[in-house]
Order: sequence, then C-alpha cells, then structure tokens
Amino acid sequence: MYNIAIDGPAGAGKSTIAKQIAERKGYIYVDTGAMYRAMALFLLENHISPEEPEKISEKCQEADISIVYEKGEQIVLLNGRNVNGLIRTEEVGNMASASSVNGDVRKKLVELQQKLAKEADVVMDGRDIGTCVLPDADLKIYLTASSDVRAKRRYDELRAKGEECDITVIKRDIEERDDRDMHREISPLRQAEDALLVDSSDMTIEEVIDRIIGLCDKEGGRHGY
Ligand code: C5P
Repeated sequence: MYNIAIDGPAGAGKSTIAKQIAERKGYIYVDTGAMYRAMALFLLENHISPEEPEKISEKCQEADISIVYEKGEQIVLLNGRNVNGLIRTEEVGNMASASSVNGDVRKKLVELQQKLAKEADVVMDGRDIGTCVLPDADLKIYLTASSDVRAKRRYDELRAKGEECDITVIKRDIEERDDRDMHREISPLRQAEDALLVDSSDMTIEEVIDRIIGLCDKEGGRHGY
C-alpha cells in the first residue's frame, strides 16, 4: 500500500489538494477532519458542550462513524446517516477542534483511519497523520499558509456558498483553532520530522499538486527526497 499523509492548519488547502492528488493517482482520499466533524455534530445534537469532557468520553462511544465512497466522493455516515451536508459549518468546525482534544474520541477515530490505510492506497489529510496515525507513511507533507491567506480562502469559500461572514471573525477563529490544535496534550498538530514543508501562501493549487505528485513519483516516496 502507498500512503500519503498531509497535515497542516485549518484552511491551508489540504482537502482540495489531497482530493485532487488522490484522483490523479487513483488512490482513495480520506478526510479525517470530516470524521472529527461528524463526531462534533453528534455531540452538538446531544447538547454536550466542550466543557464536559466526561460526557464527551461517554457519549462518543454511541457514535458509529464510517466512510463510504459514492462516485469517488467520501460520504461520512453518522449512525448510518449521511451527514456530509451538515458538517461544514463554523459551529461544527469549532466544536470539532474542541472535542478532538479528547483521548477517547481520538482513539476511536484513529483506529478507523489506520484500518482504511491498511486496506487501500490512500491520501489522508488531518493534523496528526504523519506523526501518529500513519508514522510509516511513504510520503509526508506539512502544508501551511499564512493566517491572512487562510482566512481569505475560508471567507471566499463561505461567500461562494452564499453565507454571510466577517473576515476578521474567521481569522480570529482560525488562529484560535490552530492554537488549540497545536497546544493540545494528545497528538498536537506539528510537522513530523520526516515531513516536507510546503507553504502554499504564494502558490496556486496546481503548483502545490504538481509539487507533491513530483515527490511521490520519486522512487520510494519519502525515502526518495
Ligand atoms: O480539517 P478540519 O477543519 O475539517 O478539521 C476540524 C477539526 O478536527 C480540526 O480543527 C482539528 O481539531 C480536528 N482534527 C484533528 N485531527 C485530525 C483532523 C482533524 O484533531 N486528524
């Protein structure tokens, strides 16, 4: 199996890039953020707040999260229900960041992610893929961009969907989320020692994709650069 791990902060372009790389290589794209979002949705629907770690540990055991693919698109199932249309809000994203500090939530989702990577060639994106989920991945990328660029991208994305939003609030949320993701006790976001840093601030999507494809075409993936 060939495994590509892409980690980085919110809004760095991980999912757009990982999805297209998977398409070009004929691999499966695994969006681990979507799994944390589905778990967050479940907790929100059950009126649990981020300040209730014990309730989160207990309740998360009732969430059955799985992934299926339809026409190449990843569908996240939460207790059998397709929740793709419900997990892309700022509210769910912020709750995902808050509840993903919980060790029981992580254990459950990491097991599922490792199983997927064992069964197929994958491009997996998230925060801890290169460091924890797939420490032996063939190619590890740490994709980042400045917080201004990331806030602008998220703003454009939300506006394109017709959502009202304020770029200063988005930037503040992104910075708060990064801070939490980078400083949590379990599996914090950080660049794995053997990951290659790609700063996409001044790169187009195509440039980033070509760069990463070039790296995986090199013999032996991570052992080749
Ligand atoms: O990438 P996305 O914004 O969809 O992720 C939502 C949240 O899920 C992140 O802010 C992060 O806290 C959490 N997450 C994580 N580990 C991953 C993927 C996402 O903790 N592998």
